[in-house]
Amino acid sequence: MNRIKAIIATAAVALTAVSCGVVSFTGRNQLLLFSDSEIMALSDQSYAQLMKEETLSSDAASTRKVKEVGTKMVAALESYLKANGDTSALKGIKWEFQLVKSDQVNAFCMPSGKIVFYEGILKYADTPDYIAVVMGHEMAHAIAKHGNERMSQQSIMSILGSVASEAIGERKGDAAQTLFDVGFGIGAKAGVLLPYSRKHEYEADKIGMYIMDIAGYNVNAAPEFWEKMQGGNKSDASDFLSTHPSDAKRVAALREAIKSKPSF
Ligand SMILES: [Zn+2]
Repeated sequence: MNRIKAIIATAAVALTAVSCGVVSFTGRNQLLLFSDSEIMALSDQSYAQLMKEETLSSDAASTRKVKEVGTKMVAALESYLKANGDTSALKGIKWEFQLVKSDQVNAFCMPSGKIVFYEGILKYADTPDYIAVVMGHEMAHAIAKHGNERMSQQSIMSILGSVASEAIGERKGDAAQTLFDVGFGIGAKAGVLLPYSRKHEYEADKIGMYIMDIAGYNVNAAPEFWEKMQGGNKSDASDFLSTHPSDAKRVAALREAIKSKPSF
């Protein structure tokens, strides 16, 4: 039982150190167990590793287009957040925009603000407005600190997981059952991580659309883009769509968000 006590004590320490963040634009409360500097360091490390394996695009015109949209959106976002007196979402982020030589239909953003487009996605993101849809969505994941939140959730689940398995291992009846229920309820309620990542996707869509609006892009391009992706060549779209499932619900949620969006 001492071992269980030790684990619970560790969990308690971790939980009292919990920092609760608030997502810019949506006001959603989130669990952030890692500091911005830890996240940025991890992020830059894996970014450097990843880029060693990629070749930058030799298409100068497309590279310029991607960088232009990114630079314009970042400038608009930064001045908006400054004017509203809360730049905490930008803490530690150093934006960078790259176009990688690859037919993959893909794009991603590291939590430290390194945004990478693959040439293949420009088949769909073929106007500045559509580039802004992908750019805004990726920027949103970074400013909403989705990487930190996801890692925090996973840490909590692994702590609860070890508490539950220790308790079950020792067969302590009611105590074990309670611990397991807690672990199961928090960790496995229809898979906390799955709904959360869909939640993150929807939140990134919404915040991304707001950033587009602030930067002067046509927000209606956002639902159009996802419809275009849905109707696209399935094998083409496999990379981006596997992490960004596009369906009628996603498009409808975006249209709804556009109707009720604040004026910036
Ligand atoms: Zn996403």
